[in-house]
Amino acid sequence: MIKKNILLIGTHNDGKFKEISKLISKKLKKISPKSLNIKAPKETGKTFKSNSELKANFFYKKSNLVSLSDDSGLEIKCLKNRPGIYSARWAKKYGSFNKAMKVILKKIKKKRNRNARFVCSLSIKLSNNKIVTSIGTISGHISSRIIGTKGFGYDPIFVPNGSKITFGQMNLQKKMKIDHRSIAFKKLKKKLKLFKFFI
Ligand code: IMP
Repeated sequence: MIKKNILLIGTHNDGKFKEISKLISKKLKKISPKSLNIKAPKETGKTFKSNSELKANFFYKKSNLVSLSDDSGLEIKCLKNRPGIYSARWAKKYGSFNKAMKVILKKIKKKRNRNARFVCSLSIKLSNNKIVTSIGTISGHISSRIIGTKGFGYDPIFVPNGSKITFGQMNLQKKMKIDHRSIAFKKLKKKLKLFKFFI
């Protein structure tokens, strides 16, 4: 029997844990893998979906609790959708997000098409044979320079469509209303109603 009142949020990032918790019903008790001494699996998938599913499966198996995981990143059209699933890894490779953003701006300096999008895949493992996934995206373009100190990751170079400012200049509440994660969440909540599981 799955426990319907407890949810494991499959991330080791405290900031992400808090952000995701805020989007979830107060009625659910939220547990982190850290608190259960469960380490993170290797992200060996080739897509956001395969990585979020791999993580949800892993945490479910280790904890025997309903487990929610996400995988997200920034796809830049003229870079063949890179960094994509490698978004966090690029920051590591170049030393920091600031350095990775500088590399990106240099790489696309002469490109006319600066279209980009953030993608988030959310997966929830409900039982041994039931996993539900939804994907949210937000389209926009890459700014000509790094602007803004709010948010995290690649926020200071991403301007969402319909906006004149980067995510890095936007207040968090406004960003959280429109971003890829909240879109994926809304879709997931709808799908979960079918399974009578409410997050
Ligand atoms: P993950 O933890 O493997 O899903 O890595 C996601 C990475 O994608 C983050 O470390 C950021 O680099 C990037 N990313 C995802 N969502 C956002 C966002 O909303 N703003 C800025 N960067 C993001």
